[in-house]
Amino acid sequence: MQPSIHRPTVIQIDRDALRNNYLQARQLAGSEKRIFAVVKADAYHHGAVVVAQILHELQVDGFCVATIDEALELRTAGITEQILVLGLIPVQQAPLAAQNDISVAVGDLTWLQTAAFTVRSPLKVHLALDTGMGRIGFREKSALVEACQFLKTQPQLIPEGIFTHFATADELSDDYFQQQLAQFEFLIQDLPITFENVHCANSATSLWHRQAPGNLIRLGIGLYGLNPAGSHSKQLPYSLQPALSLTSQIVAIKQLPAGQSISYGATYTTEQPEIIATVPLGYADGWQRRMTGSKVLVDGHLCPIVGRICMDQLMIKVPKFYPLGTLVTFIGQQNQQTLSADVAADYGQTINYEILCNLSDRIPRKYI
Ligand code: PLP
Repeated sequence: MQPSIHRPTVIQIDRDALRNNYLQARQLAGSEKRIFAVVKADAYHHGAVVVAQILHELQVDGFCVATIDEALELRTAGITEQILVLGLIPVQQAPLAAQNDISVAVGDLTWLQTAAFTVRSPLKVHLALDTGMGRIGFREKSALVEACQFLKTQPQLIPEGIFTHFATADELSDDYFQQQLAQFEFLIQDLPITFENVHCANSATSLWHRQAPGNLIRLGIGLYGLNPAGSHSKQLPYSLQPALSLTSQIVAIKQLPAGQSISYGATYTTEQPEIIATVPLGYADGWQRRMTGSKVLVDGHLCPIVGRICMDQLMIKVPKFYPLGTLVTFIGQQNQQTLSADVAADYGQTINYEILCNLSDRIPRKYI
């Protein structure tokens, strides 16, 4: 989709915020840990190639993506660092990964056996361990040992890593985290081969469970300046700077008398004369209908979205007449007031990750 560059709705990405978040994470991690920046889903909608280029300048160790296509996008853009695909790829794509020096997550022996026949150049694999996420990976030690023994006999398959993913690293209670951790420690003990990278840390683990084993951190949401625990926040060891803001402008404004309904379904009716402004952003841009009633910033005032959010436009109630072109902030700062992705997430009963990932490619991105 072509971004709608002639419409005044814009995502702004602050490069310095990204740099700062990365450098803070780098400092906390210490010199013995590597950092792979998680740039899947177009870097949580911040733009994977630009984010990767910024972090390349800061000597990041590598990148994680979700699909082989995301990895190829980075390779095509000239990114030479290690790239790990965290999701499982069809085994038919193993040669494509090998040719492009893309490391892949593997969760079963059959995949390895099939790949061993087809790859012509070395393929770097990271064995995924399911320690309680229930998503991908080896669950049983015996199956894992068998896979390691197989790897030992296959020079084309390079055992570059072994990893797991925690389901509750961001939560206050760490009971389940500790169970997963114990299972990870058990699974990686006394294996017949060694792995260059052992990893289990997402942002939350790197912030709140620094004792977790491994020599590599997969840094996602923290890089973008958001708290993995959202607003139900646990104390952070350093301050995060949100890198993304979302703004638009008033394109129409009018006073409506009492008793006038707004938008589809006529679910909102003015109780008194009200000033209603129209803003060109809708659910096709990722601001979902469930955000109806949430607030945006105009001239430093919190103004509610009234009536159902349309596909491409929405209406807000404002305290006075503003000129057309007045800035409307959905995520970001305005006159010392802040609306974070966490505020939107709380209103939409979701998580900050989803608010960002929902934003559509129709909104142009500007890097400052
Ligand atoms: N590692 C894996 C396997 C993931 O699936 C994700 C994100 O979903 C991450 C790391 C990054 O997590 P976060 O954004 O919470 O740092």
